[in-house]
Order: sequence, then structure tokens, then C-alpha cells
Amino acid sequence: MSRLDSMIRRLTAQRVCIHYGLDLISDLNGPILELGLGNGRTYDHLRENSKGREIFVFERSPAAHPSCTPDPQFLFEGDFRETLKRAASDLKSLAAFAHCDIGSGVPANDQVLAGAIGYLLDDLLIPGAVVLSDQALHVEQWEAIDLPNGISEGRYFLYRKSEERG
Ligand code: SAM
Repeated sequence: MSRLDSMIRRLTAQRVCIHYGLDLISDLNGPILELGLGNGRTYDHLRENSKGREIFVFERSPAAHPSCTPDPQFLFEGDFRETLKRAASDLKSLAAFAHCDIGSGVPANDQVLAGAIGYLLDDLLIPGAVVLSDQALHVEQWEAIDLPNGISEGRYFLYRKSEERG
């Protein structure tokens, strides 16, 4: 497969999974968390397709085009390991959906980061919230749920937080 085909396949899967995740939270109230602004592609897509929900973005080095950069009150700038903790006291509402697009292409580093953020992220989510991630995340209260049809296992990871509190 050419690199172009591979990229198209990856981005198509990303879009399919984002729409699927948004459908899963259609009955839930709460903002969206976007981890990894990058070029702002997925942030912009979430913004266009989430029916006006607030979107809080986490990014250590915001460098997206201004049109795809959130207003400062929606941007947590810094390392996830710090900003997710800060958000736990700053956010007025817990989130219904989190999209993590945090991969660097260096699997060993990505696994360490994924291992560090799962429980910090969990603190920001309502019961029943959905997490879509490009990295496997391991949080006891989260159940892995099936990816949409046609998306290969391991390309993305989808979880739902338990409805039970505590
Ligand atoms: N979702 C983006 C898009 O569609 O354009 C792409 C995100 S890119 C794959 C990953 C982003 O995560 C990068 O912008 C990187 O700076 C950010 N990132 C990676 N590790 C981070 C960390 N520990 N804390 C904060 N941001 C981090």
C-alpha cells in the first residue's frame, strides 16, 4: 500500500470513529475534551460536528492555524500530565467525550504517556462518557467497546466509562 493510501485509510478511520463516538454520546450532556491539537484537523472536525458542545483542548505546543486554534479559555497549554490535573479544578462540567490523538510515532514513548494519562482523564469524565483514543488506555472503570464496522482492531481504541459512580 502506498504511503498516500495508508494516510487516507488512517484519516478515514479517524473520521469514522469520531462520528461513531459522537453518536454514542448523543444522549449525554457535557463538553468534549480533545487531547492533541496538532494541526487542528480533528479539533475543527469535532467543532463542526458536535452541535455546539464546548470543546476543551489540551496541547503542549499549540501551533495550529489560528482558525483552528481554540480561544484561550478553551485551551489548556502544557504537558497533559499537568494540564489534566489543572482541568480537574478548572472545568465547570465533566466531559461526555474525550478524543485522544496523542501519538508521536515512537511506540515506547506513546505507551508511557498513555499509561500516565488514563486516570487523570477519568477524573474529568461523567459516568457513561466515551473515550476514543489512538493509544490503548487502561482504566479499571472503562470498558472497551467495539469499533465501528470496517475499522481494524488496534487502529483506534474506544471505551465507555462505567455508569456506576465511585
Ligand atoms: N489531532 C491533531 C490533528 O488532527 O491535527 C493531531 C495531533 S498530533 C498526532 C499529537 C499532538 O499531541 C501534538 O501536537 C503534540 O504536541 C501533542 N502532545 C504529545 N504529547 C503531549 C504531551 N505530553 N502533552 C501535551 N501535548 C502533547
